[in-house]
Amino acid sequence: MTRPTQTDTALVAYLALLTSREPAGGLLEIRYRQPDSPGRMRQHWHPAAHPRGAAREILELAERTDVYVGVAPRRHRHGGRSAIQRSWMLWADLDQTDTAAHMATLAVAPGVVVASGTAGHHHLYWPLAQPLSGPEVERANRVLARALHADTGAVLNAATILRPPGTRNFKHTPATAVTLERFEPRAHTAAQILKGLPTDPDTPTRTAAARVSTPDVLLAIEPERYVQAITGLQVPRSRKVSCPFHQDRNPSLHVYPQAAQGWACFGCGRGGSIYDLAGELWQLHTRGPEFVELRNRLRDLLLPNTTTPRHESAPTGRG
Ligand SMILES: [Zn+2]
Repeated sequence: MTRPTQTDTALVAYLALLTSREPAGGLLEIRYRQPDSPGRMRQHWHPAAHPRGAAREILELAERTDVYVGVAPRRHRHGGRSAIQRSWMLWADLDQTDTAAHMATLAVAPGVVVASGTAGHHHLYWPLAQPLSGPEVERANRVLARALHADTGAVLNAATILRPPGTRNFKHTPATAVTLERFEPRAHTAAQILKGLPTDPDTPTRTAAARVSTPDVLLAIEPERYVQAITGLQVPRSRKVSCPFHQDRNPSLHVYPQAAQGWACFGCGRGGSIYDLAGELWQLHTRGPEFVELRNRLRDLLLPNTTTPRHESAPTGRG
């Protein structure tokens, strides 16, 4: 049979591209839904230098469950940002069918395109000639996502996991194929890829800028407090709660003590700040006009005038 061989070859090539010239010790993270307990995700690790072993396991698992792979190689057995030193890819998650128009605005077409098994959904990858650090890759991903009108949520996170080609998407019955639509991987520098795109996506819109001219008190709220307020879940002593974004019987969303650390789910890879949590849950973008609404709703929830903390200056323009 030729078909399994082709799938295998494509998957190995894809995995080899993710790890690229990663120095010795790098790891490929495979994460998969435990078939008999679908709320539970499990992690396996393979040496980045040997994608063949990882490919074999991915294809075996894909017979019966959803499988994902960490886009950036890990430096130790941990699925979070702290395990990442560099990424050899930029990526975007596109969920519209008219991809051509947006892609035409880019200086460099994505070298790899994977159809994720849901109609119109594609993961785009740009191989990097020089790797970027986690924070750098997140900034670059955001620039691409905005130019493409793609998902600007947790998928931009450096620790993101995506469905590798050759697997199946069990969100659908029967499960649909995750396929490699394009594989012409030529590496470019981030500067070449982002050329001509608005490069300052962290600058809020003018309206939002007026609001954030004072220190952002929302960003100073301890994660324990905002996770409780936003999700309605009590944060226990273990600091782990069930992730609201998927079935999660063994709580895998970690709530860190410090605001700067935020929250992170080791089940789905989501994580970030108070805005990332509320934005994902309320389906509001964390940039642009929707950010203003997101911020207002968070203020109403967490900083109502009657209980405004002493260090908070009154928000401008709000009653
Ligand atoms: Zn999760």
